[in-house]
Amino acid sequence: YSDPSQKIDYVFKVVLIGDSAVGKSQILARFARNEFSLDSKATIGVEFQTRTLVIQHKSVKAQIWDTAGQERMYRAVTSAYYRGAVGAMLVYDITKRQTFDHIPRWLEELRNHADKNIVIILIGNKCDLEDQRAVPTEDAKEFAQKEGLFFLETSALESTNVEDAFLTVLTEIFRIVN
Ligand code: GDP
Ligand code: MG
Repeated sequence: YSDPSQKIDYVFKVVLIGDSAVGKSQILARFARNEFSLDSKATIGVEFQTRTLVIQHKSVKAQIWDTAGQERMYRAVTSAYYRGAVGAMLVYDITKRQTFDHIPRWLEELRNHADKNIVIILIGNKCDLEDQRAVPTEDAKEFAQKEGLFFLETSALESTNVEDAFLTVLTEIFRIVN
């Protein structure tokens, strides 16, 4: 599904946000390269990866931006990070309650810096660690509904729902621009 010679109909910029260590970089590695690493290094600065896929016979290049979580970005970097973003993946770790409790702050950051029509999906990652679950699925589902966000639980480790999460966002963006 990734023919480099094909023409690109759309480029969609999507940003990954959420506390550090929730699995943002591994979700991206799984989506962009189908890779996963248990000893992933903390992300330094800002980076992006791309993958081209076909949605309704159009080729869509997804440009996915990733950054370190907790450390506050410089103001100039923050605005560059969100500039032009049409989608956001707001990630928490289902085994760390705090990372879910911080989601409203991340939403606030999005509201301050991103386009108001940005498509947002809430992602509860590490759903392979069911025995360590600290955030009930229902709590997140309810929150997402109240805030008008898509919602999925994923595992970058086991590859669960990662493709679905990106497709949900990209398909909705596609629907909006068409
Ligand atoms: P980031 O700081 O949000 O980019 O988090 P990373 O992607 O660097 O992941 C932090 C740690 O969580 C690493 O040790 C990963 O291997 C691990 N991790 C990421 N995703 C998953 C997952 O779905 N399941 C499990 N069990 N571990 C994960
Ligand atoms: Mg990272």
